[in-house]
Parts: sequence; C-alpha cells; structure tokens
Amino acid sequence: MTTTERSNVCLLFGAPGVGKGTQGKVLGVIPGFVHLSTGDMFRALDPLSELGKVFREYSLKGELVPDSFTIRLWTQYVEQLKAQGRYRPDTDMLVLDGIPRNAAQARLMEPLIDVLAVVHLDAADRAEMILRLKRRAEKEKRGDDAKEEVIRRRLQVYDQETRPVLECYPRGVIHMVDAMGSPASVLGHVLAVLAPVQEKHFGNALA
Ligand code: ADP
Repeated sequence: MTTTERSNVCLLFGAPGVGKGTQGKVLGVIPGFVHLSTGDMFRALDPLSELGKVFREYSLKGELVPDSFTIRLWTQYVEQLKAQGRYRPDTDMLVLDGIPRNAAQARLMEPLIDVLAVVHLDAADRAEMILRLKRRAEKEKRGDDAKEEVIRRRLQVYDQETRPVLECYPRGVIHMVDAMGSPASVLGHVLAVLAPVQEKHFGNALA
C-alpha cells in the first residue's frame, strides 16, 4: 500500500470510560467525519462465531484482543465501509476510537493511517471513571465492565500499554482536552481542535 492510500484519521485517545464513544458518535454525524470504534466493531461480531469467541475470551478478562487479529478485522471493516459508501477517503476523516491501543498496533498501522490529530481526552478523577463504567455496563449490558476487578484491569492495561502510544506521534498533533465537563462542553473543545484540521486538510470539499 502506498502513502497516498493511507486513511486520514484523528485518534480519540484516553482511558476507558473517558467518553471517547460519546464524542465519537456525535462527531460521526457531522459531514466529513466517520466514527469507527473497535469496541463496537468487536461487539457486533456474532458471539457464537470463532471471532466472536476470541473477543469474548479476552474482553471479559479486561485484556486486549491479540494485535494481528485486531488489525486484520479493522482493515476488513474499513474496506467494508468504503464498499458501502459510508467512508469516502477523499472527503472523510476517520475518527478512530479504541485503536491503536498499544505501541505494536501503532507500528502495524503506520502504513495504513495518516494521523492528522490525536485528541487526548484526559480525566483526572479515576473514581468518577469507574462509576461511569459501572453505570454504562448496567445500561448496555456489557459483561466486561460489570465487575470492578475487570474495570481495574482495563485501567491498568491502559496505563501500561495504551498510554505509551502517545509517544508514537509528534507532539504537534497531540491535543489535550479536559474530559470532566458535560458531553456538550467537551464536544465544544474537541471541535475546536478538529474543525481547523478538517478544513486545512480537506479544504471546502464538503461545502
Ligand atoms: P472502552 O471504550 O471502555 O475503552 P472498548 O469498547 O473500546 O472499551 O473496548 C472493549 C474491549 O474490546 C477491550 O477491553 C478489548 O478487549 C477489546 N478491544 C477494543 N479495541 C481493541 C484494540 N485496539 N486492540 C485490542 N483489543 C481491543
């Protein structure tokens, strides 16, 4: 794959429960942004299929799904979005939520993505994060966040494996956003970062 074929992306980055999915969903309805959450991608698998079973096995322990499996599935998913006309590389920026989730994934994805911006959603209050995750688990019937022990493991994996991903990208593309406000006010900050990136990169392709 050549450089020109790399997808233009922004990364929604941050700990579990910080609000990546909430922000990503809203961004995804704005023309020119296509939200792709790997958590949603995995949860959409048939739980009885081989792939679905692999996901269940890892996620219920709070562990990451193996890299090669994750990247393969992600690549297929992007191709499917293109074939369905839901992602048009010439006008759209992919909003990646949940990937790359460790340094090895960042390396494997280098030939596939051009990272225009990293929005680092930062939440100082871990106790509040744990509460949010528990509330969400109840509402969405998610097995992984139902147990505090698994939530703690997920946060540990974030600190040890995911946070270092930030070092894979130039400082200039990383933007810190305080995630402790209301969804609407966080969205305001996220858009203040991404709207200029979109305009600079895609010009008035969407006008
Ligand atoms: P959250 O948004 O709370 O961080 P996700 O819904 O993104 O959680 O992910 C749920 C689970 O899916 C993870 O704990 C992990 O097992 C799996 N997963 C999601 N993205 C990846 C990835 N990039 N690599 C490996 N596993 C992943």
